[in-house]
Amino acid sequence: MGKPTGFLEFERKSTTYRDPAERVQTWDEFDEKPDEQILQKQGARCMDCGIPFCQTGDNLNGKTFGCPIHNLIPEWNDLVYRGKWREALDRLHKTNNFPEFTGRVCPAPCEGSCVLGLIEKPVAIKSIEQAIIDRGFEEGWVKPHIPSKRTGKKVAIVGSGPAGLAAADQLNRAGHTVTVFERADRIGGLLTYGIPNMKLDKKVVKRRVDLLAEEGITFITNTEIGKDKPADELKKEFDAVILAGGATVPRNLEIEGRDAEGILFAMDFLHADTKSLLDSNHKDGKFTSAKGKHVIVIGGGDTGTDCVGTSMRHGCASVTQFEIMPKPPENRDVKNPWPEWPHIYRLDYGQEEAKAKFGDDPRSYEVMTKKFEKDDKGYVKELHTVQIKWKVSKEGRMIPEEVKGSERVWKADLVLLAMGFTGPENPLLDQLGVERDARSKAKAEHEVYKTNVDGVFAAGDMRRGQSLVVWAINEGRGAARECDRWLMGSTELP
Ligand SMILES: Cc1cc2nc3c(=O)[nH]c(=O)nc-3n(C[C@H](O)[C@H](O)[C@H](O)COP(=O)(O)OP(=O)(O)OC[C@H]3O[C@@H](n4cnc5c(N)ncnc54)[C@H](O)[C@@H]3O)c2cc1C
Ligand code: SF4
Repeated sequence: MGKPTGFLEFERKSTTYRDPAERVQTWDEFDEKPDEQILQKQGARCMDCGIPFCQTGDNLNGKTFGCPIHNLIPEWNDLVYRGKWREALDRLHKTNNFPEFTGRVCPAPCEGSCVLGLIEKPVAIKSIEQAIIDRGFEEGWVKPHIPSKRTGKKVAIVGSGPAGLAAADQLNRAGHTVTVFERADRIGGLLTYGIPNMKLDKKVVKRRVDLLAEEGITFITNTEIGKDKPADELKKEFDAVILAGGATVPRNLEIEGRDAEGILFAMDFLHADTKSLLDSNHKDGKFTSAKGKHVIVIGGGDTGTDCVGTSMRHGCASVTQFEIMPKPPENRDVKNPWPEWPHIYRLDYGQEEAKAKFGDDPRSYEVMTKKFEKDDKGYVKELHTVQIKWKVSKEGRMIPEEVKGSERVWKADLVLLAMGFTGPENPLLDQLGVERDARSKAKAEHEVYKTNVDGVFAAGDMRRGQSLVVWAINEGRGAARECDRWLMGSTELP
């Protein structure tokens, strides 16, 4: 522990965001990195607790808390406080293949279970994580490690999101020959074509992918397994297969007027936007622009926030975001105690930008959309909604009840559906004969990752359902470990 009295002396200071009015003019990352001295003091706030709940990634009453990849947080906090950045980087890489991704996009469940959070603001763990890896790259400390020996075993990985990339990295380190197949034209999964550039710069993704390629991993893009290449070919050509294809079937809203033009799934909107940005700096026009439009985003989660932030950068005339659930409380509810993730009201980057321009948080809570109205050309022009209240049924289930007289009509030129995802979307699982669970995901146990087909493993959102980058890394690492054990009879992978 660096400074026993650090938490008494120093206040929390974490990464801040640039001024909203200025940052919406560009697609550059929106955060401002704190300087080194500030972060060293932040490291000193860590109390090196007897039980560091922040790094446990454990399960309590069916809810996980702390860092899912068990980052050695108190150790690197202490090293940063002492100015030992290089050693901090080595510790960080022991548990996290891609801290430059989590340091930018992780919601930081670690901070929700930081012991200091019981009496004070938690340690700025995520900001420190990002600073360690960014410094590592700046100093040239992050170098390719090419395995000295090869096992002669070949592994195919389907999907190049964080789960597939983490699995590839681990298996390559173990000496296996790894090929990653990706149906998109760029590697990265939702790191590339989900999370927008202002939250995670695509140069940061490419930098890591280039490093993995230098280390010996082969990447094949524009190839959908199950369509461009039959899935059973993988079984013949490779000794083992890891399925990490994500879970991107979007939840639809099948109500009157759904066939109107101008109603898009959030992922179609976001994917096309980033592709056009990367291909041509938006000059090719191959995306749906929100410029001058009244935008309504249905869905109050992270994907919805990214739609708000993207619409703001296009120059929308207004943006409104509907959330079906009630507004969360300002502070933890008694039913949501520490060390659980705090379900509290937050103004995320997109909402902050909309508030700065239009004067208010764009979210409306407990709103249910009843129908879309079209104009005479078939384009959406209005949404009809009602207010709801959540009641507990006799069986103890939460059910929505419409509030009488709360009908409202909203003007809209562009509607983005961001209501979550229902499961994996392609014929890959069926072609391989992989069993699915009740929610259509690949059936395999967490920490085991084996499917019913010998030599075929499943990881990330494809197994778990739509989740977080940090969980995808956890699953990719675990699937690699179990795959290595299956191939070699034992494993040294963590
Ligand atoms: C808009 C959006 C924003 C998000 N923001 C955050 C955030 O800020 N922080 C956070 O922690 N999480 C966020 N998430 C969730 C996070 O991105 C996912 O949980 C994570 O990317 C899952 O990783 P994965 O590797 O399992 O799958 P994915 O990242 O979905 O990657 C799967 C890849 O497999 C490819 N694929 C699928 N089928 C095939 C096939 N048959 N052949 C070849 N390739 C195939 C797909 O094209 C895709 O590239 C966000 C999700 C979305 C949709
Ligand atoms: S990966 Fe996420 S949970 Fe883990 S230390 Fe980093 S910010 Fe915290």
